Amino acid sequence: MQVPMADLRAQYLGMKAEIDRAVLEVLESAQFILGDRVARLETRIASYCGAKHAVGVASGTDALLLPLVAMGIGPGDEVITSPFTFVATVEVICLAGATPVFADIQPDTFTLDPASVASKITPRTRAIIPVHLYGQLASMTELRALAERYGLKIVEDAAQAIGAAQQGVRAGAWGDAAGFSFFPTKNLGAAGDGGMVTTDDEELAAKMRELRFHGSGGTYYYRSIGYNSRLDALQAAILDAKMNALEAWNDARRANAAYYREALAGLPLVLPIEVEGNHHIYHQFTVRVPKGEVDREALRGHLQARGVGNAVYYPLPIHLQDAYLRWSEGPGSLPESERAAEEVLSLPVYPEMTAEQRAYVADSVRSFFTGR
Ligand SMILES: *Cc1c(COP(=O)(O)O)cnc(C)c1O
Repeated sequence: MQVPMADLRAQYLGMKAEIDRAVLEVLESAQFILGDRVARLETRIASYCGAKHAVGVASGTDALLLPLVAMGIGPGDEVITSPFTFVATVEVICLAGATPVFADIQPDTFTLDPASVASKITPRTRAIIPVHLYGQLASMTELRALAERYGLKIVEDAAQAIGAAQQGVRAGAWGDAAGFSFFPTKNLGAAGDGGMVTTDDEELAAKMRELRFHGSGGTYYYRSIGYNSRLDALQAAILDAKMNALEAWNDARRANAAYYREALAGLPLVLPIEVEGNHHIYHQFTVRVPKGEVDREALRGHLQARGVGNAVYYPLPIHLQDAYLRWSEGPGSLPESERAAEEVLSLPVYPEMTAEQRAYVADSVRSFFTGR
C-alpha cells in the first residue's frame, strides 16, 4: 500500500463536476483578474473567519507582506516571530525592510512562547507574527495582551489554519490582520498560488487593495509603490467551490488525528496536543520523536520502505539558515525551536485517506517499535 502526504488528485476527483463547472464559467466570462468571483470569495472568507474585510492576493507570502507594508512597517522597525516556521513568515519581514527578531516556541504546541516574545520587546518593536503551526492557534490571548501593553500590531500567519479557532474565535479574527495561503496542499488549496488577508480595519484593507494593484489610486494613477499581487478569478472560482467542503475536510483531518491518537498510544513518541479551547484543524499531524531515545531517520526509513509518506516540517529553524544568520544569535539561542527541528515528524492526515490507509500508517509506525 502507498500512502502519500497528500492526494490532490483524489481531492479533485471528489468534486470534479463542481470544479470543472466553476473553471468553465470563468473561461466563458473572460474575466480573469480580480472581478466578481474574487470579490465573492473575499466576502465569503471574511465572514467565515469572522473578520470584516478580506483581500485576495497572489500568495500566502504576499498575504503576510502586504499587511506589514500597509501598516507602514519598514526600516528601523523590529518584528518578533518564530524561527520554527516556513521561511515566508520571516522573509516578508526582511522584504518589508524591517528587522526580524526571533523568539522561541512552546515545546508542547510548537507555537510562539509569549514569555519569550515579552523578553524580546524593545522600543523599536512594531509587530508580532504568531504562526498557527500545523493548524493550531498560537496563544493569542497572551500575545494580544502583550501587543496591547506595548502598542504592537499582530499579523497572524494563518497559512496552515483556515477554520482553526481558539475560544470559538477563528484564525483571521484575532490579529490586526491575518494572512492565509491557498498553496495547493494547504487545507483550502487552489490549483496554483493564491492567498488572502483578513482584517477588521477598513483603511488597512483599502491600502492593501491599492498595494496589490501596483499602488493604484484609480486607472493609471498611482498613490504608492505597490506590487502585482492579485488573486485571479480561476483560483477564486475553484476556491469558492472547495469552500463548500472545507468544514467536512477539516473534520476528516480531526477524525484521522483522533484515530492516530488511539492507535499510536503507548509508543515512545510524543503525540500532538490540542490545547483546551483550541479547535485544531491538523494541517499536519506532527509527532515528536525523542532525540537520544528513538532514531528519527531510522523510523523515516522504515516508513519509506513501507510506502508511508512522512515529512519533517521543518528540519532547520530559520535563525540557523544561511540567509538569516545576520539576524540570529546562532545555535543554542532558541533551544526549543532547535530541539523541535531535530524531533518532529509529520504523518499523512489528509482528508481523502481511507480507513485502510490510516490503519496501515499506524501499523507501520507501530511495527518499527515492535519489530513486527
Ligand atoms: C504555506 C505557508 C506560507 C506561504 O504561503 P505561500 O502561499 O506558499 O506563499 C507562509 N507561512 C506558512 C506557515 C506556510 O505554511
